[in-house]
Amino acid sequence: MHKNLRLKIGQGADFIFGNLELVGAFQSKRHKNTEKSGAKARFGCMFKPSWLTLAPALGEVLLLTKASNAKRRQLVVGNWKMNGNLRENASLLAAITKGWQGERGADVVICPPYPYLYQSRECLQHSPILLGAQSVNEQDKGAFTGEVSASMLADLDCKFVIIGHNERRRMQHESDQQVAQKFVAVQKAGLIPIVCVGESLQDREQGKHLETISRQLNAVFAHTGKDVFSNAVLAYEPVWAVGTGKTATPEQAEEVHKFMRAQLGVLADEVRILYGGSVKAHNAQQLFALADIDGALLGGASLDANEFLAICKAAE
Ligand code: PEP
Repeated sequence: MHKNLRLKIGQGADFIFGNLELVGAFQSKRHKNTEKSGAKARFGCMFKPSWLTLAPALGEVLLLTKASNAKRRQLVVGNWKMNGNLRENASLLAAITKGWQGERGADVVICPPYPYLYQSRECLQHSPILLGAQSVNEQDKGAFTGEVSASMLADLDCKFVIIGHNERRRMQHESDQQVAQKFVAVQKAGLIPIVCVGESLQDREQGKHLETISRQLNAVFAHTGKDVFSNAVLAYEPVWAVGTGKTATPEQAEEVHKFMRAQLGVLADEVRILYGGSVKAHNAQQLFALADIDGALLGGASLDANEFLAICKAAE
């Protein structure tokens, strides 16, 4: 099969080997458009070839600087939470689909409440906007009254699932361990988990924010390994900033995003890390300009078509 192979060379640069013929267990790098078509792509190299051995066999070697963010396409995710009704959803989705035709350089996802997934799927069917869900149960099926499985979400054409949102960690007492199990269930159904992590105000004030984030991330890494993050999205959502109108300063956000990226090891440059917490049209541009922020997870701003579209446009 013909694939592009990207190998990391030290700190300074990546090499991309175009049209490399590979034999063996090397799986396709995700292409940004495969999510819409529903193609399941897994990342990662099952073997680690030495570029020195491969290089002589290659016709084309392209040198890119690491500063290039091209490989991480910006992503804006709207989390409607427990808002909306049939009439309001129809008009919101009509305005959003009219305003976002897909020619732009960012991916957009909308996560309505479960009862409106079907309606949203109909409204989005001719649009480049993707459907996501706000939560999922970690079990495949069975006697779990009121719960929804990942395969049910896949049935409804969801492509992304938010897991570990702080409202669920706090109000539904979802543990780090459960978040890890949900991650596995979501990927097993061929969907992409959006894993939220973030510290409380108390953690932040005590200077323990990185410790909390490290604990939340490591719970998933310990359960799944890091390789599977090639097909996942991370979101940094400081609890004190979600729904409060307070946004992390660019310095605070960048510090955490850089830290999270470093935790990803060899996938550091591949995984999209979103910022969430009172992002609005007026502050989105400043956040998106930061090197380690690849888009936003929006709550309140996703319920207003103009605000939402302005943020999507700021992301491209
Ligand atoms: C969220 O719920 O994930 C969120 C970021 O909310 P808001 O944008 O309203 O702070």
